[in-house]
Amino acid sequence: MKNLIFFTCCWLLIGCKKNDQSRITQKILIAETDPAMFGMKQFNSEKRNAGYLLRNPNSNKCDNFIKPSKKNSTIFLDFDGATVSGTSWNWISDIFAAPANLTDDEQCFIYNRFVQAYDTFNVLITLDSLKYFATNPANRVKIIFTETDNWFCGLSHCAGGVAYVGSFTWGDNTPCFVFTTALAYNQHYIAEAGVHEAGHTLGLYHQSVYDTACVKTAEYKQGKIMGVSYNFPYGTWCIGTSSTSCTKIQDDIQTIALIIGYN
Ligand SMILES: [Zn+2]
Repeated sequence: MKNLIFFTCCWLLIGCKKNDQSRITQKILIAETDPAMFGMKQFNSEKRNAGYLLRNPNSNKCDNFIKPSKKNSTIFLDFDGATVSGTSWNWISDIFAAPANLTDDEQCFIYNRFVQAYDTFNVLITLDSLKYFATNPANRVKIIFTETDNWFCGLSHCAGGVAYVGSFTWGDNTPCFVFTTALAYNQHYIAEAGVHEAGHTLGLYHQSVYDTACVKTAEYKQGKIMGVSYNFPYGTWCIGTSSTSCTKIQDDIQTIALIIGYN
């Protein structure tokens, strides 16, 4: 049986999982602050009417121009809905994640933002599940963009996304999630949230702000990918104080490069 205990600290949930072999493993689960708390413009959490357009996989206009990849790692953006089972998210049951309910153009906007953010690194960004499955399981992550957040939040929206720190290398297909309804189907908000959640899976914590007495004054540093960038043109990677401690300096780019390398 999996025992999952949550210690809620506004934004941060820490999951302690005891596996079947009674071997204790500590897994850090991070749930983002409810997007409504960030004062985002035009915030609207009403569910969108069915606007989802099925992409023709043979005419994927986002990444069909990419030459055969020599990259060893993959970030798979899954907008089409997914069933998640047998992972650290499944403390109750299987998760049936509905599609993102985003248009082709919105999906491509998000894809392009990922390409921009992760251009420094040796990682393929793709909407093609076959490229994900062709990658070593310990070098890949699936980001599930979905309307379905009730399995985590209950009846009301509670987070823009959720991820386990470092899950990119776990090799067990643990995905991370970005919740499109909670993010008002806004392509910019969803792109920034997605890039951020992927950062968690690659080992990053938040970039936080502390005062001179080492008291945290903001969990999310403004304008940074691993802070909050909803209200900026786009967030940037950063070298700064981590959410784990005022004395812990996190170099975002170096941390990611240690996992997947540079281009
Ligand atoms: Zn976060």
